[in-house]
Amino acid sequence: MELSQRVQKLTPSTTLAITAKANELKASGKPVIGLAAGEPDFNTPQNIIDKAFEAVQNGATKYTPSGGMKQLKEAIQKKLKDDNNLDYGLNEIMVASGAKHALYNLFQALLDEGDEVIVPIPYWVSYPEQVILAGGKVIYADSDETTEYKVTIDALNKVKTDKTKALVLTSPSNPSGMVYTKEELQQIADWAVENNIVVVSDEIYETLVYDGEHVSIASFNDDIKALTVVINGVSKSHSMTGWRIGYACGDAKLIKAMTDLSSHSTSNPTTPSQWAAVEAYNGDKTFLNEMNGIFKSRLDEIYPKLMEIPGIQCIKPKGAFYLYPNVSETVKLCGYENTEDFVTALLEEKLVAVVPGSGFGSPNNIRLSYATDLDSMHEAIKRIKEFVEEKM
Ligand code: PLP
Repeated sequence: MELSQRVQKLTPSTTLAITAKANELKASGKPVIGLAAGEPDFNTPQNIIDKAFEAVQNGATKYTPSGGMKQLKEAIQKKLKDDNNLDYGLNEIMVASGAKHALYNLFQALLDEGDEVIVPIPYWVSYPEQVILAGGKVIYADSDETTEYKVTIDALNKVKTDKTKALVLTSPSNPSGMVYTKEELQQIADWAVENNIVVVSDEIYETLVYDGEHVSIASFNDDIKALTVVINGVSKSHSMTGWRIGYACGDAKLIKAMTDLSSHSTSNPTTPSQWAAVEAYNGDKTFLNEMNGIFKSRLDEIYPKLMEIPGIQCIKPKGAFYLYPNVSETVKLCGYENTEDFVTALLEEKLVAVVPGSGFGSPNNIRLSYATDLDSMHEAIKRIKEFVEEKM
């Protein structure tokens, strides 16, 4: 059967490929340590689970409006006001089946064939694929260690053309773990307004900042707010990846179009999950600080150990739950041609799964997730160090 041109352009996710291989080894009884995870290793807080059960018992088993139920939109509206100093009307908020789905609808609703979207390197794997699926053209903007993997105005100006429609901004970042400062965001906001470019501000790791603060780029003034679409959700903040609740907020016309798209594809996000998200935003917030504290202490303990690996270069992350070292020197010391070969051998020989940076646009790096317990992290870093020392 001949597949559509559209899906033939898709690149399979590198994260999933390495996870599949790691799972295969695990299934054959090998003690694999997976550092490829993209989700917190905590249970969803009990009050949230209870709320979903209660809702189902009380009949939350039917359709809701496609763009989410009023109670959840109101909870999100309040969260945006309290946490981000942002005022949105309910018609400027749409709830989706995860932040990924919100982004998917956004690109579908925003882009025409050939519209250009600037995606700074390193990027989260789904942005380019979603832009391409919507008929857009991905334009990569460079960034590296010298700017802490954050895009600069110079880099943006280098790639901007009269077809540039949008810029994707992720802070805190997956994969780099970097966080844009208020000043950096202010400069990007001014640039976007000056050039009339939509900013897709992915703030899904908002609550996981350990050094600095999270600022939403939309909060500076009305001009940048009008151009920004804020993407967020409960997946990472409340350890609710499987519940599939995310949201987008921005221009009412765009939000309506995105909602209309959902009405013909997914319909509403799962009703019990929406109730769970209401509790996530309106209920007890202690979990957020607790999870932040645990990730921070893991990072503080693991980072110096990682730095003992020969050849490794890594800026200490400031948010999310990823370490993103440049391993080009280490790979060379070990005699490998490229990072992929290094990562494959590491998995096969030492049973440690990490993600090669090629999937994020920076092939000299690897991504290690510390969304796993400290003992496993210590053991994994010990194995990587042994691996490198044996190969040198
Ligand atoms: N945006 C970024 C930067 C992510 O890392 C992820 C998940 O890995 C998502 C969006 C998707 O979140 P969700 O699980 O809510 O779809």
